[in-house]
Amino acid sequence: MAGGQAQAQRQRELEAGGTGSTAYAVEPVIERKVEGKPHQGKVLAAIQPHCDDIPIFAGGTVLKLLDEGYTGVLITMSNDSMAGTGSSIGDIVLKNETDTKEVARRLGLKEAIFLNYPNHNMDGWPILEMRARLVFLFRALKVDTVLVYDPSSLYERNPDHYITARAVESACWMANSEWDYPEHFRVGLTAHGPREKYYFARGPQLVNLVVDIGPYVDKKVWTNMANVTQGPAGSQGAKLRRALAAKGRKLPILGDNDDTANRAYTKQFSLARDRQRAQPHGLEYAEYFHYIPPDESDVEDYVEKHSVPI
Ligand SMILES: [Zn+2]
Repeated sequence: MAGGQAQAQRQRELEAGGTGSTAYAVEPVIERKVEGKPHQGKVLAAIQPHCDDIPIFAGGTVLKLLDEGYTGVLITMSNDSMAGTGSSIGDIVLKNETDTKEVARRLGLKEAIFLNYPNHNMDGWPILEMRARLVFLFRALKVDTVLVYDPSSLYERNPDHYITARAVESACWMANSEWDYPEHFRVGLTAHGPREKYYFARGPQLVNLVVDIGPYVDKKVWTNMANVTQGPAGSQGAKLRRALAAKGRKLPILGDNDDTANRAYTKQFSLARDRQRAQPHGLEYAEYFHYIPPDESDVEDYVEKHSVPI
């Protein structure tokens, strides 16, 4: 779809069940800011293994969806003990936890939920248990939509990324099943699972949705700046500015103080991917997804159109 064209109609994507199959020949749809609150009443879960994943790959889209009426939560799967600066493992965990809460606040999400699995080692943990906890959360929070790593992306080298993706993928449909974890119903929950998925990836993936995050890019920058313990943004700009000053040099884009330096650095370097992804579609900043819409029933559709009074 050409970049200049108005919002294109989303095609139904058949899923691997019943008579359906997943189509691999799809044209990407460009999604732009929508006026009003078309998503009023809907709940999203932004799910990440580590505190910087959602801010980097889906921060702009989360901001957009919340602006358009969604409410949501941030679910972090690992304990983030293995990445960042700190005096000890415990110190790093605490700092990342604090950063993650700030990320949720800056995105406008209601809550940051931590599932506390061992960082870098999630493939050593039963995926079944992660799925069970996610099913519970999806039902309890009535989650309609998830944003998470793509379970079918290629060359993903971090086990936390693909294990999280697979746990979420299976939890989505099982949460909808009345036969899975029926003990939940004894405390008032009902079968309810996310039917819309925004899957993002670092490497090659099927991309059928390009989200124009231009109107949200400065807020995305600010969100990424909350990850000071790990991640590509944080206070890297201020560090670079100081390092250059020590050598008697400066980069004009970094401005005159730490805040201007952090904002400019994040936009220029940490979000370079978003500019690169936007360029072929005639946009300034974009995020890529394999978007899976709610599945539809051929039978219900046919009955709706063709049933007549007896
Ligand atoms: Zn990560």
